[in-house]
Amino acid sequence: MATALAQLRRAVEQLELPENDWNTLSTPRRILEVAVPLRRDDGRVEMYKGYRVQYSTTRGPSKGGVRFHQDIDLDETIALAMLMTWKCALTNLPYGGAKGGVAVDVQTLSLAENERLTRRYTSEILPIIGPERDIPAPDVGTDERNMAWMMDTYSVNAGFSVPGVVTGKPIVLGGSLGRTSATGDGVAIATREALKLRGIDPEGATVAIQGFGKVGYWAAVALEKMGLKVVAVSDVYGGVTGFNSVAEIWDYYRANGTLSGAPGTDSITNQELLWLDVDVLIPAALADAITKATASQIKARIVVEGANAPTTPEGDAIMNSNGIQVVPDILANSGGVIVSYFEWVQDKQNYFWSAQDVRDNLNSILMKAIIEVEEMAAFKKVTWREAAHMLGVSRVAEAHRLRGLYP
Ligand code: NAD
Repeated sequence: MATALAQLRRAVEQLELPENDWNTLSTPRRILEVAVPLRRDDGRVEMYKGYRVQYSTTRGPSKGGVRFHQDIDLDETIALAMLMTWKCALTNLPYGGAKGGVAVDVQTLSLAENERLTRRYTSEILPIIGPERDIPAPDVGTDERNMAWMMDTYSVNAGFSVPGVVTGKPIVLGGSLGRTSATGDGVAIATREALKLRGIDPEGATVAIQGFGKVGYWAAVALEKMGLKVVAVSDVYGGVTGFNSVAEIWDYYRANGTLSGAPGTDSITNQELLWLDVDVLIPAALADAITKATASQIKARIVVEGANAPTTPEGDAIMNSNGIQVVPDILANSGGVIVSYFEWVQDKQNYFWSAQDVRDNLNSILMKAIIEVEEMAAFKKVTWREAAHMLGVSRVAEAHRLRGLYP
């Protein structure tokens, strides 16, 4: 939260916004903390902490992922909900920002336990979610199965089907074509554009990706299609180099549940991956990967933040002074929420788009945001991160001003 608040403070100062704006923008709108009981398969009952934070609803219903991870707490959930607020404003989506989750190690749950936990968490936050209120989506530790259970739990309570209550659902339940790969596709588009702006030909440019989950994997697939060479990937246990293609290493990973030991590859640690001599580094795992301790040894020319908040302020300052171009999280990984928006629109209209329509619309919204950030950074002589925050924060501040204060 300290990092997110410091970024906001800087944007407020750079925009010369009045103190009243700082007061409203730095305060989350609504916080719900819930106890989530889970009956384990062996009959034991355990209690888990769950959260849903609606940071802002000024520009529309709040929107943000649901994270199942043992390390989440309220402080981090508020920070991530704040970031979602600026991200939705930066991409001009008609949403505020939210985030939620349960502090649970999802690896320890059976499928049935995961379903019970998801349904109970949904029922605990039910009064504050809905297609016009707050629309959850997948994040770390959750996927389209969890979204199907959330949609079903909400719908059973409503008495009718409400597909628009969550995004990232399976296609047959009102999901959107292209949503599964959307965040990774957006990361790839942002990478391509950042390379071009630096005068580097994307064809043959080398990439290392930390995190081989929903974001990292799909980014790897899209980047390879664009002609880049993915030379290293990692998961929580470490990484590998020396594979021939993303498909090859993915097949091994799926079959063996680990990256290590893939034929013809060399194992590396997550830290070694950060320091590889590549054109592009993509942190796509968790927060605080790039810190004071790790930033000075980064050799990549461009860092594209697939993960949310992967860089600490000290790490950011070091990369800036070393001339590394950082594409900030709220721009780089916004493809997910952009296609979530398309899913919500399709659910509202009961009219479903082709994959090509999704791709074209994602590209045009993201390209507009990239160009605006680039122009703002050049005009104000600030970093891309500062420019992205200035754009997002100024739009929320303007909406606040126009709506006025009730009563
Ligand atoms: P995921 O659970 O699908 O994958 C996470 C990956 O990170 C896994 O490969 C895991 O093994 C790896 N990992 C976990 N801890 C690690 C560590 N300490 N070091 C290295 N690797 C580690 O999650 P995801 O949906 O891909 O999300 C990844 C990041 O992207 C998160 O910060 C998330 O908030 C952000 N994000 C996700 C989406 C989305 O649509 N899923 C959208 C925007 C941003």
